[in-house]
Amino acid sequence: MFRIGFGTDVHRLTGGRKLMIGGITVESDLGAEGHSDADVLMHAVTDALLGALALGDIGTHFPNTDDRWRGAGSSQFVRHALGLVLERGYEPVNVDSTIDLETPRLRPHIDLIRQRVAEALQLPVDSVSVKAKTGEKVDSVGDSKAIRAQAVILLMRKTAGGDL
Ligand code: MG
Repeated sequence: MFRIGFGTDVHRLTGGRKLMIGGITVESDLGAEGHSDADVLMHAVTDALLGALALGDIGTHFPNTDDRWRGAGSSQFVRHALGLVLERGYEPVNVDSTIDLETPRLRPHIDLIRQRVAEALQLPVDSVSVKAKTGEKVDSVGDSKAIRAQAVILLMRKTAGGDL
């Protein structure tokens, strides 16, 4: 039995903030605004995990009105969502994702980002795909006003356990 989940996220870019992507800090003049560490990729992966089992979304599990999550490292959102998935007898098979960011180019960071996402999902690195695109200088990403991420995740029912 398989389930598929999709997640997407966007954060405004601004000065004076760190740019966290997939659990690493990327050197940049502009960072991502947000209540937590504003890690778009971890947020998209969290939503994909929750979505695969129709468990709601990141906003219902980690409300931005809750001081517990102020400045929170977003890999903990992924770990929490993964726990909910495992409790229900499912485990991730693979994840595919894309980050949209005009600058800086992410290619030099992709392997480390893949490692961090793989660690959070307890997956081998070759089951984690992270792609990067620019915004071709159009729209909010292309104008360097925003960073966006999208993720798709496949879950498989484990042989034992689970009530879904
Ligand atoms: Mg977010």
